[in-house]
Amino acid sequence: MPCIDGKTYIDRINQLKANVWINGQKVTGKISEHPSFKGIIQSQARLYDAQYEADTKEATTFISPKTGQRTGMSYLEPKTKEDLAKRRRAVQTWARQSVGMMGRSPDYMNTIVMTFGAAAEIFSDPQCIANMRNYYAYCSENDISLTHTFINPQVNRSSIYFEDPSEIIAAQMIDKNDKGIVIHGARLLATQGGVTDEIVVFPTGAVHLDDSYAYAFSIPSNTPGLKFACRESFDYGKSTYDHPLGSRYDEVDSIIIFFDHVTVPWNRVFLHGDARVASTMYTESSFLSHQIHQVISKNVVKTEFILGVLQSMVDAINVGEYQHIQEKISEVIIALETLKALLVASEVNAKVDRFGTMTPDKKPLTAATNIFPKVYPRFVEIMQLIGASGLVSIPGEKDFQSELGADLKKYLQSATKDGYEKVKLPCLGHFVKRVRRAANAL
Ligand SMILES: Cc1cc2nc3c(=O)[nH]c(=O)nc-3n(C[C@H](O)[C@H](O)[C@H](O)COP(=O)(O)OP(=O)(O)OC[C@H]3O[C@@H](n4cnc5c(N)ncnc54)[C@H](O)[C@@H]3O)c2cc1C
Repeated sequence: MPCIDGKTYIDRINQLKANVWINGQKVTGKISEHPSFKGIIQSQARLYDAQYEADTKEATTFISPKTGQRTGMSYLEPKTKEDLAKRRRAVQTWARQSVGMMGRSPDYMNTIVMTFGAAAEIFSDPQCIANMRNYYAYCSENDISLTHTFINPQVNRSSIYFEDPSEIIAAQMIDKNDKGIVIHGARLLATQGGVTDEIVVFPTGAVHLDDSYAYAFSIPSNTPGLKFACRESFDYGKSTYDHPLGSRYDEVDSIIIFFDHVTVPWNRVFLHGDARVASTMYTESSFLSHQIHQVISKNVVKTEFILGVLQSMVDAINVGEYQHIQEKISEVIIALETLKALLVASEVNAKVDRFGTMTPDKKPLTAATNIFPKVYPRFVEIMQLIGASGLVSIPGEKDFQSELGADLKKYLQSATKDGYEKVKLPCLGHFVKRVRRAANAL
């Protein structure tokens, strides 16, 4: 089938009726109408709609030579440097829909499935190799949305820790039978857990002496025995005026994923019991290069958004003449230009890996992925330093609608905006359009 639109995504997720828990309650009814999930599901649906819209269709999709169908661009296995540039443009086109705030939009896992589909031979066992290749084809041909878990619960991170065999915590493969492998225990953190078609479960990458932790597979989110427990949502049920980002883009992490004697059918098993493959699959494949290429492409857009909001704040209260303000804005510009340069360098120096996939150079990408977590807290600090009292002078939409409204509009005005418009600034999200225009020009 061709790539999906937003309605198809929402219908599929609702039909799953996955076992999802939040605030001590099981989600019943349509998850797309649940107060904690409706914002992110709508935002995700908009990404899929972009695959059909005139101005974003070409950037986000391609015609698969294998099926002749229009397919999501993040499933494209790059063979040339131009393919890498196409992938970057697709990631950034989607990221602009969420101003870079959706860290695990579907292109993230599509990229990982593409990487392992192309490098399937690392799984060693002929059936597992075929399963991984088939799964890549299945996901790309049906535009399957995926969450993932790659780590174990945070019980004891000592390098000499071995779990008590009488009490399984970290999910283990406890059996193999004619139907498949049986998984029991828990895994940690699946962003978007419960709002995707399927979940991919990969080993931690650590050296395991015990083969029962050496497994990799994927199953539908509604598989019997599978349960997602989510953290509280940052969508407080308020208007998009009051919480422009949380109400739209909170991806609601599943903090624990329970596997209660879950049977994974053989055709979905990519690895079972080969500890060597479990500890080398991330380094033997080009996983990191492609994963970070997606992440940094997205983070460039996120940085553009922050820069746009900061510039809007500077303009609103007219502080652009001060040198320390110019220096602070310059810091963000320097970070943005550094990320963009490293991303381009990774494409210029890309090479075909041993599986035939054009792979971005990991060195500049690794530099970028180390820089971003250091500069992002500084962006937030700069926002606080420039915004000053403006960051707490933020009455809600209901206050503006009350009899105080006229006074609030008047007394909270700025050099260029009335109070209602100015208060939008610290609330960030209303500059999406403006930032999108700026980003398109880059
Ligand atoms: C918001 C959010 C979303 C996430 N989403 C996902 C997801 O969708 N899928 C997924 O698989 N994971 C997800 N994760 C989990 C993420 O992969 C882990 O947080 C990350 O790998 C770190 O593991 P940890 O949190 O268990 O920290 P730990 O490994 O427990 O580390 C705790 C501390 O101990 C230190 N430490 C631990 N081991 C060592 C060691 N061997 N040597 C030196 N120092 C050590 C660490 O540096 C750290 O300071 C998410 C995490 C967050 C915060």
